[in-house]
Amino acid sequence: MEILIYPHEILKCKAEPVKNIDEKIQKIIKDMIKTMYEADGIGLAANQVGELIRLFVIDLREKDEEKIGQVALINPVITACEGEICENEGCLSVPGYQAQIKRYEKILVEGFNLDGNPVKIEAQGLLSRCLQHEIDHLDGFCFVDRLGPIKKALFKKRWQKRQSE
Ligand SMILES: [Zn+2]
Repeated sequence: MEILIYPHEILKCKAEPVKNIDEKIQKIIKDMIKTMYEADGIGLAANQVGELIRLFVIDLREKDEEKIGQVALINPVITACEGEICENEGCLSVPGYQAQIKRYEKILVEGFNLDGNPVKIEAQGLLSRCLQHEIDHLDGFCFVDRLGPIKKALFKKRWQKRQSE
């Protein structure tokens, strides 16, 4: 799959809930996991590969103290949140750029797994950040949309320059 680069129109669209977790959805998830590994990323939302459906994949193995493995979450919703933390973030759709982004410190996310079973994920640290980042994608937001006005203007200038090169 091809990863769309910011500011692609599809990255700005809100994704639709998945109605049936069928073979087609499972195939998309499989392909997304493959694409995420090939790009050496830790998370990938469906919008980023041009699918406007509410699902994402994450794999934080060996990168997180909690050593959480592969997660595919469908129709995720943040049902509780607590605290605030500002840390560095990056995105496969904005390659080569990182910025400090404010996020909730702890969250509870509910959704469905690949088999259609309901799951609850209580997250903090990198997993919490990653989940919020991917859910943002499904709502049509990239992490750079969360920058303050000055940083955002600087980013846009830099990004336009880089893309025209
Ligand atoms: Zn991203």
